[in-house]
Amino acid sequence: MLSEIQKKVQNGVRLTRKEAEFLYLEAPMPVLSELATETKSRFHSTSEASYLIMCIINYTNICVAKCDYCAFYKLPHQSGTYLLSYDQIQDKINAVQKLGGTMVGFNGGFHPKLKLDHYADIFSKVRKDYGEDIEFYGMTVAEFMFSCKLSKISYDSGAKLLKDNGSLWVTGGGAEILDDSFRMRHSPGKYKVADYYNAQKAILDSGMGSTATMVIGFDESMEERFNHLSSLRDFQDQNQNGLQSFLCWTYKPYHTELGGGEISTDEYLRWLAVSRIYLDNIRHMRTSVLTKNEEALKGLLYGANDFDLPTEDEVTQKAGATISIEFDRILEACQNIGIKPVKRKPFKNHATSIELDC
Ligand code: SF4
Repeated sequence: MLSEIQKKVQNGVRLTRKEAEFLYLEAPMPVLSELATETKSRFHSTSEASYLIMCIINYTNICVAKCDYCAFYKLPHQSGTYLLSYDQIQDKINAVQKLGGTMVGFNGGFHPKLKLDHYADIFSKVRKDYGEDIEFYGMTVAEFMFSCKLSKISYDSGAKLLKDNGSLWVTGGGAEILDDSFRMRHSPGKYKVADYYNAQKAILDSGMGSTATMVIGFDESMEERFNHLSSLRDFQDQNQNGLQSFLCWTYKPYHTELGGGEISTDEYLRWLAVSRIYLDNIRHMRTSVLTKNEEALKGLLYGANDFDLPTEDEVTQKAGATISIEFDRILEACQNIGIKPVKRKPFKNHATSIELDC
């Protein structure tokens, strides 16, 4: 079966789910690397990788979703809650700019009082004050869904409101594992998978861009992981390949209710490789320096073509992630595996009809 799969990948033929499962479970690491690199070569140079410097702005830690894998949130009545003012947000944007950053991602929680107007107001100020010097991911799909419901507006109206106020992106964050059994076990109040995709479709239909994300290493089964990948590939097929990138993090278990351990780098690389090969309709695959540090750069040999150099993300840092701003050292690690890092500008989304920057 392996040689048949190898031929299919070399000829650019789409794999079935069973074939992808076989690859993940049985293929030797060098074969996975070779096939993922073959697939990547259809979109990108295999001797270079793109990157940018960015930070996540955790604008609030108040959240009522109560995911058991999260070490970040506080319930509204608990001590230690915060909600950043616009001045505090500006301080964070200015700080990442000083480090060479060109991107910020806003990520908070399911704040029970923040209606979508609040976000639209913040984003319009960011756009007015920073123009194209800073691109931003306005919210995650998960936060967008919650705030639309709180505001009693449809996803279509919510997406239009954000776009009219300067947002170009709502990322696919908050996806973790897109499988309803997983969601029921760990975050039953967050969303149902079909609803997640409805919201993401509204975002794409509005003309904003979006991305695909995944987190592995909880207690998810292989079936649940592949349910995530196959629903994602179907969604992408049905939406003109509108999702611009796929980013897979690894779960950080420290100080969470769920607990557990961390997966090995090899397991992460195997998953990245199979994701690159199976998700043949997503152009950019990003490897996670945020949760794997320099080890993540090996992902560039397993199908990834892009990475972020983050300066801050309280959500993962609270759960054990360690962030370094010694960028030269990280970039040297990239060169040491034979791949030249090339700093890029933030991606433009398809709806703007502007060519991608890398
Ligand atoms: S992962 Fe996000 S939605 Fe879940 S509890 Fe943490 S902040 Fe809230």
